[in-house]
Amino acid sequence: MAYDTQPEASHFIDGAYVEDTEGELIEVVYPATGEVIARVHAATPAVIEKAIASGRRAQKDWALMTGRERGRILTRAAAIMRERNHDLSVLETWDTGKPYQETSVADATSGADALEYFGGLAATLTGEHIQLGEDWAYTRREPLGLCVGIGAWNYPTQIACWKGAPALACGNAMIFKPSETTPLSALKVAEILVEAGLPAGIFNVVQGMGAVGGALVTDARVDKVSLTGSVPTGRKVYASAADGLKHVTMELGGKSPLVIFDDADLEDAVGGAIMANFYSSGQVCSNGTRVFVQKGIRERFVARLAERLGNAVIGDPMDPETSFGPLVSARQMEIVQGYIAKGVEEGATLVTGGERLDKPGFWLTPAIFDGVTDDMTIAREEIFGPVLSVLEFENEDEVIARANDTEFGLSAGVFTQDFARAHRVIAQLEAGTCFINSYNDAPVEAPFGGVKMSGVGRENSKAAVEHYSQLKTVFVRMGHMEAPF
Ligand code: NDP
Repeated sequence: MAYDTQPEASHFIDGAYVEDTEGELIEVVYPATGEVIARVHAATPAVIEKAIASGRRAQKDWALMTGRERGRILTRAAAIMRERNHDLSVLETWDTGKPYQETSVADATSGADALEYFGGLAATLTGEHIQLGEDWAYTRREPLGLCVGIGAWNYPTQIACWKGAPALACGNAMIFKPSETTPLSALKVAEILVEAGLPAGIFNVVQGMGAVGGALVTDARVDKVSLTGSVPTGRKVYASAADGLKHVTMELGGKSPLVIFDDADLEDAVGGAIMANFYSSGQVCSNGTRVFVQKGIRERFVARLAERLGNAVIGDPMDPETSFGPLVSARQMEIVQGYIAKGVEEGATLVTGGERLDKPGFWLTPAIFDGVTDDMTIAREEIFGPVLSVLEFENEDEVIARANDTEFGLSAGVFTQDFARAHRVIAQLEAGTCFINSYNDAPVEAPFGGVKMSGVGRENSKAAVEHYSQLKTVFVRMGHMEAPF
């Protein structure tokens, strides 16, 4: 292991590691074994103050740099992340339990993609000129100021970069609070940014539970809050941000539909359902957990899916052959076990999986439920674990209505070889991020986010710039000023 899992200190503020052991102890657990691999402390009010003060101070000069200068630092950081991908991936595996097979291609790499993309975009950010006869107006695209990013535990590196990269490209400073469950990798992102030339104070990382997030969100010196988390947390954070009329981005939970028509390529559809339910042990917000399968192929689909799940390699997450890891924590495992019990109790058929493995760590085998109906708890609530529900449908109008019958609206997918139908159905599904004959792709070039209770705003792509900057309009009169008296 190239990285020691114990960080130098808990927080990274003003360009350096900072410790304050007065803060509540947070034990970092390796999900594959349950062992404690690091200890950090939650931020105390003094630490939070230092993070806010240094962010506010440093942001002024950062905003005065040209976009090209800021962008160069971000792209340099992207290159360092790629060079260290192996070490960062190993650390991410320690932190989350996700197999190295995944972390080596989906975590630091996607973080680097964001740094590279927004690094490139930074120099292109401009306002516009508006001619008004002889007079004219122009707009200046200005940063918001000090942004707070709060992350979930499933993609710690990616979330830090998806929030940090656009914020920094637009000339803001950011304080990032990782989930207390996975506090390690955001510190590495901060370290790398500083190594790439980022001025001290522009990207600070503070640890802590909800209370630390809450203290950051309510501080009057914070201009924007971007949260990735559950709907209940989103509601609380949105409400406190609203009190200060702060800008928000909310990337929240989902219960997304994946619709498989009977003309779909069966192998592709099964592959899509696997990617939509079992990657990262099912701990992905955009997962298509309600798999609507048309009556004609349901039995064949379920049989082939169960067969392919048998090929999952469940074991040591550091082994590159392993394709399925543990849940992130004992608590998350218990939540998922509760849903599996509920599914059985409410009459769904557990085709395979859902068993706890007899070894240390938080291991559950991937589960498929068949015969799920729309009213069952497992079809209504976000489980955030490896549990796939198959719901049978007969026709297009019916499946669209049933797919939309949820408070969530993060993602949706359709598998069919009839492209007219694919586009027609996708157009009617209430979701922010959709897939045709694919699932769970999230390239930085395309916007990502939800509708309904799944979120506000968009991450990634040029759309993110709108959420990390604001326009100042300047009217310029060329002649004399006229007034009524
Ligand atoms: P939580 O909502 O429990 O927590 C999210 C973050 O918010 C954590 O850092 C948490 O800290 C913090 N937090 C909790 N309470 C408050 C508060 N009152 N004020 C400020 N911050 C607070 O989500 P999980 O970490 O359990 O992540 C799983 C959820 O995230 C799922 O619902 C999933 O769908 C969603 N998610 C959404 C994504 C998207 O892009 N749409 C992507 C990934 C996940 P702490 O954990 O330390 O208490």
